[in-house]
Amino acid sequence: MKKILTIALCLMLALSFAACGGNTVTENPTDATEEASKLVLTMATNAEFPPYEFYDGEVVVGIDAEVAAVIAEKLGMELEIVDTAFDSIIPAIVAGKYDMGMAGMTVTEERLEEVNFSTSYAKGVQVVIVAADSDIKTVDDLFGDKNYTIGVQTGTTGDLYSTWDIEDEGLGTVSRYNKGADAVEALKVGKVDCVIIDNEPAKAFVADSENLVILDTAYAEEDYAIAVAKDNTELLEKINTALEELMADGTLQSIVDKYISAE
Ligand code: GLN
Repeated sequence: MKKILTIALCLMLALSFAACGGNTVTENPTDATEEASKLVLTMATNAEFPPYEFYDGEVVVGIDAEVAAVIAEKLGMELEIVDTAFDSIIPAIVAGKYDMGMAGMTVTEERLEEVNFSTSYAKGVQVVIVAADSDIKTVDDLFGDKNYTIGVQTGTTGDLYSTWDIEDEGLGTVSRYNKGADAVEALKVGKVDCVIIDNEPAKAFVADSENLVILDTAYAEEDYAIAVAKDNTELLEKINTALEELMADGTLQSIVDKYISAE
């Protein structure tokens, strides 16, 4: 993450939004009367997933936070971001606790049985992080007879896929952590042999560590989208219209470019 961008974003947020704080970060206009009359759009996320959502001080920032802010603005609503465990986002959306789940969340067939997903707004790739001197050189090595221990974040696609493909097949063990960063810490101290996680957070997590590398071969390619309760098709349509607009006019790309430098 480029520090200068973070600072610029911070200033921008400070100028544009009145109140931010704690785990519930409300981004709203300074006009109190307007604020009172606006409906709130609640977004459940897990702010441990840079550059999509992470803390800058007490404020949740990132691609998802900014895209959600633009969507809320288009809907004439006030955005409230709620930081929660990744694996509790879908159950909370199903229960009607929050309006939408936005957390670099991959569209999967299993999740589609529980929630609806918006149009996809980003691509994700599951990658494998290993120690620089690891004997795991390619994804295929995970399917060999070495019985590796794989670190993942609980409930993510990295967890689900490696559980189905590797653990359930008796080819290795999956070790689950609450945060992707904790799985990476476990890798650093040799508690796990690799970490399977999305490519952008992977890049952020290995950035400061000379001893970790990301394998060239991808584990899986996926689409990120916004989860909405199945009975809330009205909101889903509004979100899709807003997303189409911000994809067409370049807003989405400019938000992505702030956080992800072209390779
Ligand atoms: N894309 C992954 C998933 O949807 C991980 C998301 C995350 O950890 N925030 O499961």
